[in-house]
Amino acid sequence: MVHRKLIVIGIVCVAFAVGYYLAAAGGFGSDTAQADPSKASPVKALAEREVYYPGTEDLAPDEMRVTACGTGMPNARPKQAAACWLVELGNGDKFLFDIGTGSAERIAAMKIPYNYLNKVFIGHLHSDHFGDLDALYCGGIVANRVVPLRVWGPNSIEPKYGTKVAMEHFEGMLAWDIDTRMGNTDTRGAFLKVTEFDYKAVNKIIYEENGVTIRTIPAVHIFDGAVSFILEWNGLKFCYSSDTFPNKWWIEHTKGADISIHEAFITPESLVEKQGFTPEAALNVGTQIHTSPAQFGKVMAETKPRMAVGYHFFNDFDTAPQVLRDVRRTYDGPLALAVDYMVFNVTKEKIRVRMAAVDEDIWPQPSTIPLVPPDPSLQRTEMSKDMLSGRVVHKDILKEIYAEINEQYGSNAKVPE
Ligand SMILES: [Zn+2]
Ligand SMILES: [Zn+2]
Repeated sequence: MVHRKLIVIGIVCVAFAVGYYLAAAGGFGSDTAQADPSKASPVKALAEREVYYPGTEDLAPDEMRVTACGTGMPNARPKQAAACWLVELGNGDKFLFDIGTGSAERIAAMKIPYNYLNKVFIGHLHSDHFGDLDALYCGGIVANRVVPLRVWGPNSIEPKYGTKVAMEHFEGMLAWDIDTRMGNTDTRGAFLKVTEFDYKAVNKIIYEENGVTIRTIPAVHIFDGAVSFILEWNGLKFCYSSDTFPNKWWIEHTKGADISIHEAFITPESLVEKQGFTPEAALNVGTQIHTSPAQFGKVMAETKPRMAVGYHFFNDFDTAPQVLRDVRRTYDGPLALAVDYMVFNVTKEKIRVRMAAVDEDIWPQPSTIPLVPPDPSLQRTEMSKDMLSGRVVHKDILKEIYAEINEQYGSNAKVPE
């Protein structure tokens, strides 16, 4: 008898809870609440969507949107690209901080015309922080970027370890790619503009345009030539560590940030269990080269951002509880443990955290500047007679294709002889 009573009470509670949830969700809510469920279904959209659909929301003039385009580790995986953060501002400016391996497709998913994705700040020259620069540079040219790609990065104790030399080699590596495009497409975007700055500079301005200031502070990461960044605009402060051990410059200069993104590396036990590290190696990598979650928490407790964001670990059902446990040993403030496509809308009043819902079938957006026809005088390469002699030309088929396209679009292109 007692049991039956409890069951009835339980059912009533569940029914009430479901009803409350539906009413709160605003979907099966007010205007259909009286409808007979066997005859009617709701046709109105939900009042609120707790997901970000790229390209579908205005950014308010005083708002900053930060999107995680890479939150993982140097090891490639489908779920998480390596380090990359997109910052969009209400004045229209957009910035990329790091562009690690695998991040280019996440950036593409944000549906931003590539003319606006032309400013990249590299924290250090580990491939998990700039391994997809080629995808943005060359891929951007064929995706309608017609402005040069601007890159900022630190120097080091020798020129060969600095961003300038790295970018010279990078352009050398891409000679075939770039030169074969010249004269064949609109290649006004096929240029790099590199700004190398002093990695030891403390809180020095390296960028100041359109009301946006970006400063650099040294990062402590294996070797000289790593930095962290501080972006300030419209009274909002975004800080990004790239990779660093806890350090005095970060603690001094990022205090009170609106959003503070700092590495919180995978725990030493995960390095042992998942990657087969020895305990000694796991401790060295996980607590000396990188910032462990508990150390991350300590840094956040000392700097007190409005939102602390830990990244740079494989964020899974079994690792996240370990990372959270360790962070909470030292920090009890606002926290997000990042995964790719996490989106932060930041204003002075509120910080909203959601996930983006991504369309995997996206195409590049049209150029915001009209494309120009290829300029044959820019041609840098010409196929040799040996290679040309191998061409099998299906003239009749080509004539048909040209005729069809000319008819469809009113053009007058001729089949080359
Ligand atoms: Zn690194
Ligand atoms: Zn890294």
